[in-house]
Amino acid sequence: MRTRTLAALLALVLAGCGPTLQGYAVRHPAADESRRVAEFLDPLLMALELPSLRAIALAKDCKIGFAIVRTDRVNVWSSPATTSPCLYFTLFLTEGALRMPADQLMATIAHELGHLALHHTPGPDTPQLTASPEQWQGIQGQELAADRFAVALLKRTQSLYRVGACEAMAEFLRRSVSDWYGPGISARMHAAVTQRADAADAACASSEVTALPRLTLNTRVQ
Ligand SMILES: [Zn+2]
Repeated sequence: MRTRTLAALLALVLAGCGPTLQGYAVRHPAADESRRVAEFLDPLLMALELPSLRAIALAKDCKIGFAIVRTDRVNVWSSPATTSPCLYFTLFLTEGALRMPADQLMATIAHELGHLALHHTPGPDTPQLTASPEQWQGIQGQELAADRFAVALLKRTQSLYRVGACEAMAEFLRRSVSDWYGPGISARMHAAVTQRADAADAACASSEVTALPRLTLNTRVQ
C-alpha cells in the first residue's frame, strides 16, 4: 500500500507517559501494522460510501486514529471523534488481534464501525463484575447491534470487493471466549458471547438484506 494511503491513519499522539488501555500499555503502530489495518479498513469505508483512506490522506483534513495495545490477547476497541487532534474516530488493536486470520480481523473492525455508526457510548470492557442486570442488558444490546451491523457490512464488502466473510464475526466471538476472557470467564459473559455468536451465524446465513445506518465522518456529530 502506498505511503499516501497510510498517511490517512494517524498514529495517535499519546499524551503523557505510560498510556494504558485495560491495564495494557498503548504504543504507536509500526508501518507494517498500519498497512495491515488499512488493507481491511479501506474496503469497509468504501462499502459504507465513505472516502477511501487515500482520499482522506489527500484531503489534508481530519485523520483516523490508530494505536496498538501491547498484549498477545485478542481484542479491539474504538473511540469516537475528537477535535484535537482532529480524528474521525480511533481504533485500538491489540498485538494479538493484528495476528488474527484476515477475515476475523476485518470482522472486528467492522464491529467497531458498527459501534461508531450507532453512536454507542464506550463502556468498561469487564462489566460482568459490576454491571447491574439493567446495565448488562444495555451493554449486550449494543454488542448485538454492532454484530448485526458488522455482518451486514461484511456481506456488502464480499459482494462488492470479494473481501471479508460474514462467518468470521461468529468465529471471532467464539475465539474471544477462550482468548480474551480465559478460563475465568463468568457464566453470564460466556452465555452472552455464545448468544452473540449464534445470532451472528443466523444473520450471516439469512438472505435478508439489512439496511445499514449511515456512518458520518465528522468530528462534530459525536
Ligand atoms: Zn463491541
